[in-house]
Amino acid sequence: MMEGKEGDWECNGCKNRNYAFRSFCNRCKNPRLLVDTKTPPNSKWLP
Ligand SMILES: [Zn+2]
Repeated sequence: MMEGKEGDWECNGCKNRNYAFRSFCNRCKNPRLLVDTKTPPNSKWLP
């Protein structure tokens, strides 16, 4: 399985997989809110 933990998200820009607590991509610094389409707006992981 390549799935990460709940809330983890994949950057659309560089395909880097980021931890749920990150608000920006760890590699290219894209803002999460612009690239994450899987996490619902009411997710507990969002700021
Ligand atoms: Zn990225």
